[in-house]
Amino acid sequence: MSNPIETRCIHGNSDFSYQDVNKAVSFPIYQTATFGHIGVGQSTGYDYTRVQNPTRERLEETVSALEGACDTVAFSTGMAAVSACFELFGAGDHIICSEDLYGGATRLLQTIGQKNGLVVDFVDTTDIAQILARITPHTKALYIETPSNPMMNVTDLHACAKIAKENALLLIVDNTFLSPYLQNPIELGADIVIHSGTKFLSGHNDTLSGFLSCASQELAERVRMIAKTTGGILAPFDCWLMLRGIKTLSVRMERQQENALQVAHWLATHPKISKVYYAGLPEHPGYETNLRQARGAGSMISFRTDSVETARRVLEKVKMITFAESLGGTESLITYPVLQTHNDVPEEMRERLGITETLLRLSVGLEHVDDIIADLAQALEE
Ligand SMILES: *Cc1c(COP(=O)(O)O)cnc(C)c1O
Repeated sequence: MSNPIETRCIHGNSDFSYQDVNKAVSFPIYQTATFGHIGVGQSTGYDYTRVQNPTRERLEETVSALEGACDTVAFSTGMAAVSACFELFGAGDHIICSEDLYGGATRLLQTIGQKNGLVVDFVDTTDIAQILARITPHTKALYIETPSNPMMNVTDLHACAKIAKENALLLIVDNTFLSPYLQNPIELGADIVIHSGTKFLSGHNDTLSGFLSCASQELAERVRMIAKTTGGILAPFDCWLMLRGIKTLSVRMERQQENALQVAHWLATHPKISKVYYAGLPEHPGYETNLRQARGAGSMISFRTDSVETARRVLEKVKMITFAESLGGTESLITYPVLQTHNDVPEEMRERLGITETLLRLSVGLEHVDDIIADLAQALEE
């Protein structure tokens, strides 16, 4: 890659060349459903916005530049991207997934995936032996989140890429939690990278989007055909909002990560907090692996309170921090995974993973870190 990521966030891989005839500094919003034909059998390259649109193309090129992907397709939400990804597979195909996944992905696989005949095994992918033990002649893909949601478990992507190559599997990595600023799975051997662009890429808690970034042209063509056929693509105005958000990705990630480390250290010493899950703390079991494959641990922290009462009190007493789903934006958000993001995950599975009534998940935002800590401190007081 020729230019550093800070520059790519703003200019993509376009070698700084203008693509707009009027040299608009902010890429225009092509708010049009369709495009006129210049002659029979002739096209400007744009025919219909479900298939191509200049604003979406600009966004897709930017995300490809950030992920080192061959091509990227932008979807209306992260789940639209995840769903489109699983359309690559058919009845009888076996997929090995991290057991600690975004709740919506687990729900998708256990309902629609099951209806479509996908055979899915949820395993602890931090233990490579468990992945190897589940591979069968029908296995087609490994589906990984690292750090995972909400337990922040770290899976070794180099090791997964090796297994995927040796067994002709697709390695699919949901990179939402670290964003392309901190981790690039394609460079480590992944075939497809998924983003819920709603989170760090947008960064402002105001736009939903999803992305599938592909390592090869062949995969990208299959994904484009699925997007064109199923239609869950991203609208032009939302593409523009995403372009705008991505411009500041590097500075946001740096500051949010800096804040998160301080908050994690503070939580770790608080008498009412029994455990902190943050891959940036040296005592985290995935600390070394994360250091090898990522440029940081990001700004997502989960923590366990001493009692259910404390957990509920924090959620009800936070003032500046909002008790809400989602993550990755300028505003700090606190989530109750057991009742929110992971409510549809079977209880037995939640218990095994540690997603219980004492677990809280915090997305550390861009407010002054002293204010974030002060808010948590007052909310923890009885
Ligand atoms: C939020 C999220 C999704 C789903 O994205 P939406 O934009 O909410 O549809 C998928 N994966 C991860 C890791 C997420 O955090």
